[in-house]
Amino acid sequence: MRKFTIVGGGQSGLMLAIGLLKAGHQVRVVQNRTAEEIEKGRVLSSQCMFHTSVQNERDLGIDFWSGSCPPVQGIGFTVPAPDGTKALAWSARLDDNAYAVDQRVKMPVWLSEFEKLGGKLVIKDAGVSDLELYAREDDLVIVASGKGEIGALFERDAEKSPYDKPMRALALTYVKNMVPRPDYSAVNFNLIPGVGEYFVFPSLTTTGPCEIMVLEGIPGGPMDCWGDVKTPAQHLARSKEILKTFLPWEYERSKDCELTDDNGILAGRFAPTIRKPVATLPSGRKVLGVGDAVCLNDPITGQGSNNASKGATIYLKSILARGDQPFDQAWMQGTFDQFWDYASWVVGWTNAMLLPPAPHVLELMGNAQGLPTLAHRIANGFNDPRDYFPWFADPAAAHIYLDELRAA
Ligand SMILES: Cc1cc2nc3c(=O)[nH]c(=O)nc-3n(C[C@H](O)[C@H](O)[C@H](O)COP(=O)(O)OP(=O)(O)OC[C@H]3O[C@@H](n4cnc5c(N)ncnc54)[C@H](O)[C@@H]3O)c2cc1C
Repeated sequence: MRKFTIVGGGQSGLMLAIGLLKAGHQVRVVQNRTAEEIEKGRVLSSQCMFHTSVQNERDLGIDFWSGSCPPVQGIGFTVPAPDGTKALAWSARLDDNAYAVDQRVKMPVWLSEFEKLGGKLVIKDAGVSDLELYAREDDLVIVASGKGEIGALFERDAEKSPYDKPMRALALTYVKNMVPRPDYSAVNFNLIPGVGEYFVFPSLTTTGPCEIMVLEGIPGGPMDCWGDVKTPAQHLARSKEILKTFLPWEYERSKDCELTDDNGILAGRFAPTIRKPVATLPSGRKVLGVGDAVCLNDPITGQGSNNASKGATIYLKSILARGDQPFDQAWMQGTFDQFWDYASWVVGWTNAMLLPPAPHVLELMGNAQGLPTLAHRIANGFNDPRDYFPWFADPAAAHIYLDELRAA
């Protein structure tokens, strides 16, 4: 039995913690918000998770919601024309359902499961001196603190982080009473050229089924408009105004919506940032980062929780494969590198989506309207974005692929 401390009881930290406990190890989770504070607090994410990520939770025996959370069955993509009609619209089914369980529902249950399994939960906002103590006492300390300040211990990796400022003004609005899509449930992704993106999908929140609106405004543009919003009611009204102005079909679905609760709103922004995965404490001891702490993406592609699940799964395997050998710096770096072999593709795709689409991307997205095979592939790529390469990134590969599809 080996001893671990994980700082941060969120998507990646708790998956890893529960996996380690189930493998017979001793685990301490240090978490700065109690289950009750999380449940009664503000939403922080829209957390839509695709099949492989949910399967990772199932494999750990902690997917408690696939039976009760309204599923996401497909992806819809729409681009509005300047006259308010749809310039482009297609949708395709996912091969397997995705689920967006509100973290205010999920994390309190996982924290309790962690304790039931014999884990030690410490409620504390961990600082560097705490990390020193944990690193002295345990075989390995993992920092899974999401966007928490302690993540600044890990040096920003400028080579892997092309942006040094926020690329979108973000907002979330959790609502009930939305008119469902006619055919199947989906992430309805709307790209408003020069303005931003709006996507919406079903979820399970603390009050039951709901829909989550995600609004991504290009900084300085008309969807970067949350500074003067002071109340939850104003936040909902502003969300609807945006839809009425740019996406009338989404407004029609949403005009009678109400907030799920006053905490079902969020507005903010952050710079997508990749950090070096190993940090050195003043004593010289090393700690390893996982999830958003070291791989923070803009939510435009909905991949952060998915990365957190996949990262936790890769780290768990690497830890278990290590046996009794020390978790030294080379092992830490190698473990992150295994994750990066996957995540680099996700980060590349996500960062590309934050720029005006290249002509070949427009061509691909446009052709998906008449090519169901392409629409299906784009939709299912959200589960594993490696499948977008090389054709999404490289104009020549895109044209070869489009020619093949047309010939077929
Ligand atoms: C607007 C928005 C929409 C999103 N939508 C999606 C989506 O649709 N799909 C998707 O996959 N991802 C989405 N994400 C991203 C996703 O929520 C995160 O990537 C994911 O939660 C990261 O998991 P994590 O384990 O790294 O961190 P978190 O889940 O954030 O957990 C970190 C935990 O550590 C705690 N903590 C922080 N500092 C300390 C400290 N010093 N001591 C103790 N505890 C600490 C925090 O309170 C928190 O509980 C979205 C994010 C945003 C902002």
